[in-house]
Amino acid sequence: PGTDVSPNSPSKRLTVLSGPSGVGKSTVVKEIRRRHPEVWLSISVTTRKPRPGETDGVEYYFVSDDEFDRLVAGHELLEWAEFAGNRYGTPRGPVVRRLAAGEPVLLEIELQGARQVRSNMPEAYLVFLAPPSWEELVRRLTGRGTESSDVVQRRLDTARIELAAEKEFDTTLVNTSLRDVCDELLALILAPSV
Ligand code: 5GP
Repeated sequence: PGTDVSPNSPSKRLTVLSGPSGVGKSTVVKEIRRRHPEVWLSISVTTRKPRPGETDGVEYYFVSDDEFDRLVAGHELLEWAEFAGNRYGTPRGPVVRRLAAGEPVLLEIELQGARQVRSNMPEAYLVFLAPPSWEELVRRLTGRGTESSDVVQRRLDTARIELAAEKEFDTTLVNTSLRDVCDELLALILAPSV
């Protein structure tokens, strides 16, 4: 046991949930927020167009390409990545302020962004959400029904590469049961350095 690391050290309270598209990251995060509204989830900016039912400022801040360029140029994003033809990024200010206040912060981002967080913030705890099987992941990615087939194909190609990244993460949670995954993730968010 170390002498200088307290179990709830504020500097350890950044948890990053990542994994292939379609693995159920947003469902897990939604459930966590429902059960534990005190866990603060970063709202990303994206150049993607809203899907039906999505609201600006809730799922994402939906921005133009020009606005995204401006945020990148101004170093206002903690990390950002291009994914399936759109850009996504984490606004830096709110995350830094929460961490400084010792509050747990949760990011739900794709793999390239998780790697940037890893190198910029070594104290972050990286959680890989894995599908129960590849077949299940394909079923989920093709079943969403809101994307054209070439978009789905690009997401499948990306997902195959992303599955190999599991070993870069601090831990893996297999998304077999929503309840179990949420319990496990919550334990990590609330005491990630234990
Ligand atoms: P979707 O378009 O399905 O909402 O999201 C596509 C992918 O972008 C998901 O894997 C999601 O986790 C990821 N994503 C969402 N926000 C961010 C972000 O701020 N940064 C990065 N790097 N990825 C993000």
